[in-house]
Amino acid sequence: MSQRVWVLGAGQLGAMLQHAGMPLALDVRPVDINESHAPSLSDADLVTAEREQWPETLVTHTLAQHSRFINKAVFGRLADRKTQKELIDSLGIATAPWRNVANDITANELRDQLGERVLLKRRTGGYDGRGQHWLRTDDDQVPDDWQGEAIAEQAINFEEEVSLVGVRNAAGDCVFYPLTLNLHLNGILYASVAPLARLQPLQAQAEAMLGNILAALDYVGVMAMETFRVGDQLLINELAPRVHNSGHWTQAGASISQFEYHLRAISGMATPAPQIIGQNVMINLIGTTYNPAWRDLPCARTYWYGKEVRPGRKVGHINILGTDVTQVRETLVLLGDLLPAALYTDAIDWSLKALKD
Ligand code: ATP
Ligand code: MG
Repeated sequence: MSQRVWVLGAGQLGAMLQHAGMPLALDVRPVDINESHAPSLSDADLVTAEREQWPETLVTHTLAQHSRFINKAVFGRLADRKTQKELIDSLGIATAPWRNVANDITANELRDQLGERVLLKRRTGGYDGRGQHWLRTDDDQVPDDWQGEAIAEQAINFEEEVSLVGVRNAAGDCVFYPLTLNLHLNGILYASVAPLARLQPLQAQAEAMLGNILAALDYVGVMAMETFRVGDQLLINELAPRVHNSGHWTQAGASISQFEYHLRAISGMATPAPQIIGQNVMINLIGTTYNPAWRDLPCARTYWYGKEVRPGRKVGHINILGTDVTQVRETLVLLGDLLPAALYTDAIDWSLKALKD
């Protein structure tokens, strides 16, 4: 009988884990946390999660109690931005300067400590830029609903955003993908490009940062580190203890995808270094209705999540891969014509420029 792996959560990440599990002879079962029946687990099963935070439900209670819930202690610690920042600070790793937003702290105190531009972030539950609030220059007080519930961060004048996705196995060995360049618009990831030769000089710095964190947490599986590049220094923006949107390009562009690595690591399989294939660009599909013409693009593969389309919601992504960069560029231009200009002109232009640099 094949090894069963339960995934807490049944969104697109769970689905892509399930897909990656089939060739590994793993029986991967994403579970909707609001399901009315508890999954029936056996002792030999493994449990992982596609999200770092969850409410208490019958399903989450059942899965989180299992003795083989991998990295169980890590989720709560990283899902709360305050404890995540404390961990990064305790390891002496660079991160955007921050303060806890205690109930009695004023907006002026935060500006005195962090500078003129201060970003409030909810300690838990935020994603895709939701759960963020820029402090207004005329605010004296922290808005009521942010007091005691948020951290405050200094606005970082970064040159660009770069992420590292890596995996650590139970023996403590780590493997990392090449750094990925990311474009966020309004707090949401639109495009990723990897690999890029000009980011190579930052690779060792990034691997040391994430490697230290993985070891400190005795973590097993895939973790992503989002950073800001300021000159030749990387500052951590945030950590995600799971497969990550900025690693989706590895489905096409690496011999072992991030989804496969995560499953390999948690189930005790080998985690050999990946072969990286060609030039990759990933474009997120955000609030866009399905267009069958995407499927006809050369060197592109569309992943559609089957979710209801709503403005600002991630509903799929397209991986473009080519060993010939000219072909990747041509595909990007063709794709640009098949996406709403208002949302995508900047993202396509940015991607084309990233391939030129
Ligand atoms: P995710 O969906 O990745 O979990 P999120 O909503 O949890 O995102 P962050 O990753 O913290 O939030 O922030 C989203 C984006 O907002 C960042 O990628 C960056 O573009 C911008 N941002 C966040 N923090 C800062 C900062 N301190 N200074 C400047 N820009 C920032
Ligand atoms: Mg983020």
